[in-house]
Amino acid sequence: MSNNLAKYASNPAYTRGRVYSELEPRGRSNFQRDRDRVIHSEAFRKLMYKTQVFISHEGDLFRTRLTHSIEVAQVARAISRRLKLNEDLTEAICLAHDLGHTPFGHAGQNALNKCLRKLDKKSCGFEHNIQSLRIVDNLEQRYLNFDGLNLCFETREGILKHCSKVVAPKLGKVATRFLNGGLPSLEAQLANIADEIAYNHHDLDDGLRSGLLDFEEVSNLRAASKHIKEIKKCLGSEDKKRRNSEIIRRMINSQIEDLIQTTNQNIKDSFVLTHNDVRRHNKSLVTFSSEMQKGVKELKSFLFSRLYKHPIVSSMTDLAEVVIFDLFEVLFEESNNKNTDFKLRKIADLIAGMTDRSAIKHHAKYFPDKIEWPKQLYFF
Ligand code: MG
Repeated sequence: MSNNLAKYASNPAYTRGRVYSELEPRGRSNFQRDRDRVIHSEAFRKLMYKTQVFISHEGDLFRTRLTHSIEVAQVARAISRRLKLNEDLTEAICLAHDLGHTPFGHAGQNALNKCLRKLDKKSCGFEHNIQSLRIVDNLEQRYLNFDGLNLCFETREGILKHCSKVVAPKLGKVATRFLNGGLPSLEAQLANIADEIAYNHHDLDDGLRSGLLDFEEVSNLRAASKHIKEIKKCLGSEDKKRRNSEIIRRMINSQIEDLIQTTNQNIKDSFVLTHNDVRRHNKSLVTFSSEMQKGVKELKSFLFSRLYKHPIVSSMTDLAEVVIFDLFEVLFEESNNKNTDFKLRKIADLIAGMTDRSAIKHHAKYFPDKIEWPKQLYFF
């Protein structure tokens, strides 16, 4: 595969290397080794029991963080191959990008962030993609000679999608672009947008399956309407499952085609020839056309107001927040560490490392009667 790489792709032979030097892997590239290390990590396996939108016990068919990460990798790898980028690096970044998510998805992250900031006014708070980097750099303990997974620079910079100017100086070289400008590799830019493509569509799918989203409303969306008209011609409304899959499949395909075409044009227009040229830009080269971008924006705001803020989803996320607040308080009181900074970060690591069900179990141990979780809501 690497024989077919474009000059602007990341080449494992020219990696900026690992923090701890290691012998070159045998029979696989450095980026393949990174992907394999992510798959074997504990944090990766825990994603199976972490929320995407629906808390993991709400139904067996809903996406979890694990299936989300696999879908992101699938979308990104398909595009990566067409753009002649490095598929292994693309895949490694995608599989690792959500390792730092707390239990209960964004509700858990927000609650943990509030806890840290409340107890320490100077705290940088909690942000899942910085936590993903912390996991692969420090928290995994699997190797004899180092903590973390000792991944290549290119994989680490792809994991660090965002970073504030306050946090960046603490993270070293991997974060300098947040201070001095510039872009990460095309593979990292692609992983970022593949994340959006994957969650917009699988959340739409889960939203329709759960009955929380109204099909008629979806029909009016710019990104969906054309495909829905096509499907209606050949399929009655009785086969909802097949109908929804077909529509969503076609929506994903047209976004992928648009992204490939626009990105190839961006690369040409920007005179990007090598992977170093990519880094000198300040505006992402992996983008949708402006027309497609309008549809994506509309779809995102629809999902936000109709699904993420749906009363049923919100009632679960409110309970999730209570769990995180309570656990933080208990663990803070139990710890006798004198160094507040260190203590708060340790507690955040501990809570972020829990799965939905282990957080619920721990909470029930300390507060046996406080929360009554609804029984499984959906059976599909
Ligand atoms: Mg994600």
